Amino acid sequence: MKPFESKIWLATPTMHGDEMKYVQKAYDTNWMSTVGENINEVERIAAEKAEMKYAVALSCCTAALHLCVKAAGERLYGRPPVSHGALEGKRVFCSDMTFDATLNPVVYEGGIPVFIDTEADSWNMDPVALEKAFELYPDVKLVVSAELYGFPGRIDLIRDICKKHGALLIEDAAEATGATVFGKQCGSFGDYSAVSYNGNKIITGSSGGCLLTNNIEVANKARKWSTQARENAPWYQHEEVGYNYRMSNVIAGVVRGQYSYLEEHIARKKAVYERYRDGLKGLPLQMNPITDGTEPNFWLSCMIIDRDAMCKQVRDDASALYQKEPKKTCPTEILETLAKYNAEGRPIWKPMHMQPMYRMHEFITRSGSGRAMTNAYIEGGVYDVGADIFERGLCLPSDIKMTAEEQDQIIEIVKSCFV
Ligand SMILES: *Cc1c(COP(=O)(O)O)cnc(C)c1O
Repeated sequence: MKPFESKIWLATPTMHGDEMKYVQKAYDTNWMSTVGENINEVERIAAEKAEMKYAVALSCCTAALHLCVKAAGERLYGRPPVSHGALEGKRVFCSDMTFDATLNPVVYEGGIPVFIDTEADSWNMDPVALEKAFELYPDVKLVVSAELYGFPGRIDLIRDICKKHGALLIEDAAEATGATVFGKQCGSFGDYSAVSYNGNKIITGSSGGCLLTNNIEVANKARKWSTQARENAPWYQHEEVGYNYRMSNVIAGVVRGQYSYLEEHIARKKAVYERYRDGLKGLPLQMNPITDGTEPNFWLSCMIIDRDAMCKQVRDDASALYQKEPKKTCPTEILETLAKYNAEGRPIWKPMHMQPMYRMHEFITRSGSGRAMTNAYIEGGVYDVGADIFERGLCLPSDIKMTAEEQDQIIEIVKSCFV
């Protein structure tokens, strides 16, 4: 096998031409600003698509999550003094196996993330571990839960548990635009939700994101905060801290053009997933789980190697080594082999409880709680599910512009690691 002449990527933007029409219109009408028709249209389409009443178009999903957290904090604990966060010293239950942007905004507002372990059957926040967390900390009032790789778990159950305990839910649907749970769109389960148009997401504006809510006051507040929190006065009048988080009308043109291709992108992502599933059949591995009642958007195709087919692999904070054994492999070998052939894979998100910066934070699993546990695995059952999936899992190249022939070669490369 020869290396690919042009690199096979994990996930890159797929443009269609309509995007440029809306960008051009912004240019021609001189709405080269954070005001304009494209922004209004993105807000209309994003809300409609996610089955929420209001969307606020922002510079990125991280900004949207920040304003979700701020809105939740003020609703729960009142408006803080100017130089304090809205969650100062408060525990917040957060997804553990996710991108750190899910919960960094909790820290921006002075909150203390408590990590909830992952459910082995869905790779999303474990409802059982969340219940356990509420037993330990009944006074917690906020949960931040992300969908992983576009394959939702039972976010409906997570929402019900939050309701039962009088807690608010922030849904980070950055990876799950267009995915559904029992026919309801991801992004519609949170009291406040966020979606992303980052360059590698299923649709993109090159960057950008939206805050979603059914509460008009929250939407208006978020819009105000995102434009420097100006009061209604003839001059620049300020009563609270503001941000420069608004989406640009140029970026909004790209997002606006992309939305009509969301369903097509999902269909193509699904075809990539199914080609992997069929092509890798018979090997000691599983693809990302599809939870009953959910319809993923198939953003990233991932695989996890069966435990008895794992060769020895050690990873510290910055490097990875493995020892090859016949018929056994590990994520490091597969990722290095893909790279050798000019293809891009990626390890599974390293769980937050394993990150040096969150070393001292609590981590709650089905079977108990603790701190900074890595690779905690008990004979006969998985203790730390997140560490286990991280140890054995990886993301495969999932770009929808990859041809069937190219994907077949990727499949052969993966197969070669199991020899
Ligand atoms: C990409 C991503 C984000 C951040 O999105 P940006 O638009 O880049 O800020 C947040 N959460 C998750 C789970 C993501 O995958």
